[in-house]
Amino acid sequence: MRRMLLIFSVLMLLLSLLFTFIPSQAQEATPTPVIAPTTVSTPIPRPSPVNTVTQDGVTLELLFTSIAQGQVGIVRLSGAGIVGGRANFIDKLTEFFQMEGDGFYGLLSVNMDQTPGVYPLEVYADYDAQTRITLTAEVEVVQGAFIRQDVTIVDDRAYLIDPQIERNEFARLESLYNNFTLTRYWQGGAFQLPVPSVMTSPFGVFRVLNNTVTTRHTGWDLRAAFGTPVMSMASGVVVFAGLMDIRGNYVFIDHGYGVFSGYAHLSQIHVTRGQEVVEGQIIGVVGDTGRSNGAHFHWEMTVNGEWVDTAQFLQTWLP
Ligand SMILES: [Zn+2]
Repeated sequence: MRRMLLIFSVLMLLLSLLFTFIPSQAQEATPTPVIAPTTVSTPIPRPSPVNTVTQDGVTLELLFTSIAQGQVGIVRLSGAGIVGGRANFIDKLTEFFQMEGDGFYGLLSVNMDQTPGVYPLEVYADYDAQTRITLTAEVEVVQGAFIRQDVTIVDDRAYLIDPQIERNEFARLESLYNNFTLTRYWQGGAFQLPVPSVMTSPFGVFRVLNNTVTTRHTGWDLRAAFGTPVMSMASGVVVFAGLMDIRGNYVFIDHGYGVFSGYAHLSQIHVTRGQEVVEGQIIGVVGDTGRSNGAHFHWEMTVNGEWVDTAQFLQTWLP
């Protein structure tokens, strides 16, 4: 009997835990605050290298211990006479950018579905078109902390849960972010929060739409009233400003070297394709267009072809 009671209470505890993590009404209209980001007023210090590889006078520094799924790790390459660098990491080439007097940097991005484990990293240091040396290291990819949410999309927009519509939209976005510029438009330091507000639905959530289709959340949702101005999180060039099925009125900005940010569900767009924007510039206002449940702001980023956690860019030192 006592044993039955124990089993019962453990079950109840597990159930209550489960319901804590699976909100029944995790709609974007009535979100639960998850994190309240603050504007970073003091400069974020540059992290110290955790791992250093040296070969033939070239030094490769890893400024991280591991990279979680959907996150970015920064690497630095330095040495006399180097004119360029790139990395081969998880079957992907990442171009490095030069910081005057401070070597070359690369942003290694990890897919949110990447299997955790240790992956080889190859970094190529170029001296000229004919001469380069290769440095190798190992990078550990660790599990990300992702929750599950049930989301209800109302009847007149329910057709937008069609996986084919989502695949088409991802393909469209892919053709945009695969075409990045080798110019570093961002200023360094950390990026800016586009809408000073509370983040609600986090990045990477496993979302079950109308109890049928499971999808991943490519960004963060921020609580924001209809008409709230939306700012560019960093300087860049607008590569898309228009209507998408799921994202509604959408702005996609190229910050250079494979770093892009996206701003979704806007009611109005204040920029046009090809326009240069500066950090903090108003690019549109909050709305409820696309696959949305009431006015809110969806904010996302891709780095070297992967959807990554935008929140990391508010808190991370960037060269
Ligand atoms: Zn969202």
